[in-house]
Amino acid sequence: MSHVVVDNPHGLDQQLAALDLNPDGQGGGTGRRYIPPHLRNKDAAKNGFGGYENKDGGWGGAPRDAAYNSFGGRNDRSKSAFFNDRGAGSRGRYERGGFGGGGNSRWVEDSRGEDDWSKPTAPNERLENELFSGSNTGINFEKYDDIPVEATGSNCPPHIESFHDVDMGEIIMGNITLTRYTRPTPVQKHAIPIIKIKRDLMACAQTGSGKTAAFLLPVLSQIYTEGPGDALQASKSSGQENGRYGRRKQYPISLVLAPTRELALQIYDEAKKFAYRSHVRPCVVYGGADIGQQIRDLERGCHLLVATPGRLVDMMERGKIGLDHCNYLVLDEADRMLDMGFEPQIRRIVEQDTMPPKGIRQTMMFSATFPKEIQILARDFLEDYIFLAVGRVGSTSENITQKVVWVEENDKRSFLLDLLNATGKDSLTLVFVETKKGADALEDFLYREGYACTSIHGDRSQRDREEALHQFRSGRCPILVATAVAARGLDISNVKHVINFDLPSDIEEYVHRIGRTGRVGNLGLATSFFNDKNSNITKDLLDILVEAKQEVPSWLESLAYEHQHKSTSRGRSKRFSGGFGARDYRQASGGSGGFNSNRSGRNAGGHGGNRGFGGGGFGGNFYNDGYGGNYNHSGSVDWWGN
Ligand code: AMP
Repeated sequence: MSHVVVDNPHGLDQQLAALDLNPDGQGGGTGRRYIPPHLRNKDAAKNGFGGYENKDGGWGGAPRDAAYNSFGGRNDRSKSAFFNDRGAGSRGRYERGGFGGGGNSRWVEDSRGEDDWSKPTAPNERLENELFSGSNTGINFEKYDDIPVEATGSNCPPHIESFHDVDMGEIIMGNITLTRYTRPTPVQKHAIPIIKIKRDLMACAQTGSGKTAAFLLPVLSQIYTEGPGDALQASKSSGQENGRYGRRKQYPISLVLAPTRELALQIYDEAKKFAYRSHVRPCVVYGGADIGQQIRDLERGCHLLVATPGRLVDMMERGKIGLDHCNYLVLDEADRMLDMGFEPQIRRIVEQDTMPPKGIRQTMMFSATFPKEIQILARDFLEDYIFLAVGRVGSTSENITQKVVWVEENDKRSFLLDLLNATGKDSLTLVFVETKKGADALEDFLYREGYACTSIHGDRSQRDREEALHQFRSGRCPILVATAVAARGLDISNVKHVINFDLPSDIEEYVHRIGRTGRVGNLGLATSFFNDKNSNITKDLLDILVEAKQEVPSWLESLAYEHQHKSTSRGRSKRFSGGFGARDYRQASGGSGGFNSNRSGRNAGGHGGNRGFGGGGFGGNFYNDGYGGNYNHSGSVDWWGN
């Protein structure tokens, strides 16, 4: 089966014009009859595409320095006094080299040693190739650098401009070189020094902003400098209690909680890179997979654990994991975790077990939005934290070209084929549908039409989902049909085109979806099929397009106008209604200033300004000014090369 490809000498605009599916008259248009590619040379009328007339007969032809050892900020928590007596209890020895499936060194049961965790272990060429091949290309930092960041809270350290501005030690610096991360992303510039001086952090940043490395680099750097402390001895003692060769309970030094297995796996993959040539062994546990295998992996040693909340509670209840020495806690995509109903498990893990309390452990929370529930969690879990608001990478940024096209339900499949034909075969396309059944049906259809595609949705087994993702990422199946839930939190880099085959009913979901493209400064395209079924999203969609300085179809404007006059009582969706936005609510209640303007000093106005911060909280002022005149598309190149 091959992916049907037609070279694309034209831009999307030309293609859309050629398709003529975007007439102001909602499907009326020129009166020409449209014959979809898979029905060309067939009788279109029989197949229910009777609305168009192909008078021209030829639709198919037109394709398509270490300055920050101390930041001088508050550092009086002295975690080291409690937990970081390096060497104490560190009686284990690690054998360098072959560490199957997850780390770089192997625990040797009965050996003792005093290894210095800050020194790199011997290189391993095979592992190095495995971890670092294919890392990260095509970053459009020129545009990415403009994303505004606002830091609030007392004694906030200055941000860095280069990874060399902060001393993260030999191991981390070596691994940064291997990943080919040449410079920090905006969230990294701010978060790394904050975490490095042991401050708690609440960051509003999306997946795609580089937030994983923003917390992994400084956390791992601290673990390397401070050594394992009591964690190793605790694990060893638990083994002895269970008999000489008894099963060890693991006491991770750092815990990262994530909402989905896919995100957990991505964080784990990134952790393996930055744990290369170190004594730290990362592990991952998530639901829907064989627990026995995960337990066996944990028993080989676990210093950094990435987990979904439900599976972790299970592991704790089985006595496989103890959090007594967990000095670093990260909650990633906290809003998603709450949306998915994980709050009881999160509180069980953080508050009702043996984890060191806030103020003793260091806690970092990342969330795309900052609604009230997240603020409460931040208040309960974080101590005197610094709040970071990172401007959105995707969605309303200039990295993504957003197109909304009127397509009747019956025409969606054929129009999709036209778009796919216009896409280069190396480009990854993510197609969102509303239902699991819809995902299966569309995948079958595309398959029958000869396209290399795959799909993920909630009914797929874990293995199937991982396999599908792998096929997609590797480019073997460059088209992925997905439901929104299945795609949540995924970092699928190089996605060039997100297609909303079915638009979602709420705008926040739209923003999340289109954020799958244009990641970390890459350019991307999002095309949405709109028809009568989507009238509930009209106004919000229009607002988003206008704020992002995108082309607005005139029919959408008319519809929004009509809609507004029909339902005057209808306000904007809850998250857009002002109140809590992705801003430090402590500031709103008259807290002290302490804003740190970013490099360009653009934020000197503090929170009273109306720039576009917030990574999706969309509080009252998120869209007031977007990113302040950065949306000049005139000189920009779209991903079609125009
Ligand atoms: P995240 O927001 O953590 O999901 O990261 C999104 C993508 O950006 C991942 O593929 C990272 O490998 C990549 N990335 C993170 N930091 C950098 C950096 N400083 N330079 C280049 N790529 C990066």
